[in-house]
Amino acid sequence: MTSYKELGLVNTREMFKKAVDGGYAIPAFNFNTLEQMQAIVQAAVETKSPVIMQVSKGARNYANGTILRYMAQGAVEYAKELGCPNPQIVLHLDHGDTFELCKDCIDNGFSSVMIDGSSLPYEENIALTKKVVEYAHKYDVTVEAELGVLAGVEDEVASEVSHYTKPEEVIDFSTRSGCDSLAISIGTSHGAYKFTPEQCTRDPKTGKLVPPPLAFDILHEIEKKLPGFPIVLHGSSSVPQDEVDTINKYGGKLPDAVGIPEEQLREASKSAVCKINIDSDSRLAMTAAIRKHFVENPSHFDPRQYLKPARENMKKMYIHKIVDVLGSNDKL
Ligand SMILES: [Zn+2]
Repeated sequence: MTSYKELGLVNTREMFKKAVDGGYAIPAFNFNTLEQMQAIVQAAVETKSPVIMQVSKGARNYANGTILRYMAQGAVEYAKELGCPNPQIVLHLDHGDTFELCKDCIDNGFSSVMIDGSSLPYEENIALTKKVVEYAHKYDVTVEAELGVLAGVEDEVASEVSHYTKPEEVIDFSTRSGCDSLAISIGTSHGAYKFTPEQCTRDPKTGKLVPPPLAFDILHEIEKKLPGFPIVLHGSSSVPQDEVDTINKYGGKLPDAVGIPEEQLREASKSAVCKINIDSDSRLAMTAAIRKHFVENPSHFDPRQYLKPARENMKKMYIHKIVDVLGSNDKL
């Protein structure tokens, strides 16, 4: 058993309380490479932001759970080295799908886990979440649950249609499951293709797709039912069109990729939404920088030559999210 406390990590409890009270949201960035980790830590330190570094099951399979634990420990020490004496870093499991996976993460240094029972019948979702909560709370690990189904594809999580969270269920669900935070479905979606062209309208000036708006009425109803309770938004990348254009210009093929407009996320951050998950934007920033570098420097073959601009581009994106969208800067 390795407690996250030995690694210098924190759980989400205090962090979320401050975020809800302060009207901002904590960034939850997915990572599985060294360069993503470095870029996340640099961005968090430079902006004095708390940060959630999260790992999906697929990322854990890719990078190895033991290595990721040491990377998270390394992230804490790196933040201190960069001049942040008390970094607030969470190591979180994204979309845990079984009790066993959550337990394994809790036993190996994670400070927070998500148990995603959203595809199960309601009572089974409560029972599974409760089982994880009972184990996690013994070790002061916080638990995110999910109610409602998001559309889109994220690693092994995929659904074709979304089902909005039913506000009438949230009190019963959170009380009986004991979860510490709740991921809800109000129209965000996983991946870089969040909406089909049919679901969108087209901006006549640019020809770009404009996605349907988030269901803020449902969010506000949930807030009324659970005042001050931490709410989480998944699938909240904005799919920046300049990165998509760069990818397409330098040999990529991402037609009609579309995300959540940042002004809507900015509005959500001011509500009880206190954790916003961003994964695709980091993938796009990395890929855009690498594709550009390859085309402009065909003789380069040292990975550091193209991973350095990739890291810089991700860091720029992370800082932008923290400062311009979530408002979690200057909170340490
Ligand atoms: Zn998700």
